[in-house]
Amino acid sequence: IMDSLTSVFNRRSFDETIRTEWERASRSRNSLSLIMCDIDYFKKYNDFHGHQAGDEILIKVAGALKKSMKRSTDRVYRYGGEEFSIILPDTGKSCCLHVAEMLISSVRLLTIRHEFSEASDRITISLGCASIIPSRDKEFPYIVSLADMALYESKKNGRNRIYVCEESDNGSLSFTEHKTSDDYLTRLL
Ligand code: GH3
Ligand code: MG
Ligand code: MG
Repeated sequence: IMDSLTSVFNRRSFDETIRTEWERASRSRNSLSLIMCDIDYFKKYNDFHGHQAGDEILIKVAGALKKSMKRSTDRVYRYGGEEFSIILPDTGKSCCLHVAEMLISSVRLLTIRHEFSEASDRITISLGCASIIPSRDKEFPYIVSLADMALYESKKNGRNRIYVCEESDNGSLSFTEHKTSDDYLTRLL
């Protein structure tokens, strides 16, 4: 259940947990949150510094993400390649966004130089968040697709930022950026 390179939970563990947490939240009518993270311009880092240096980044980023977890039920998974996901059981939108802020800041504060990133002068991540009370007429891939779409919005709108996907009562989706308190500071540095 662990990823051998980064020592966070692996994809198989993610697939099992998201299914069981979806079903549990659906029965108890509790909120479930999911955050998808992706390292920005990671291919360029690999191309310039080599695959081994890239592996070191994956280890450091995974460590920073793990350190940002406060509750024992909140876990970091390696979703694939340079993508990580965080499942937050019994967690609504405001707590989820608070965790997302911790995640993005913890990676910024690693201050690993990335000369070829167009998003920053250092290694950063883009995040996509989704918080919902699972409905019985949907299956767990739904929340994964919402968080994935939010991540896509973060990428499209400049990377190194957080987007959240929200579902209105009529089922329509909206995407909004969540500005972090250190955005201003980080962009000055
Ligand atoms: P974006 O900002 O849009 O996310 O661009 P990106 O370059 O980060 O994303 P892209 O999907 O183009 O490339 C991902 C790269 O991640 C490609 C591959 O070389 C690298 N990668 C995936 N898994 C590993 C791994 O286990 N080790 C190393 N060193 N690199 C990996
Ligand atoms: Mg990717
Ligand atoms: Mg990437």
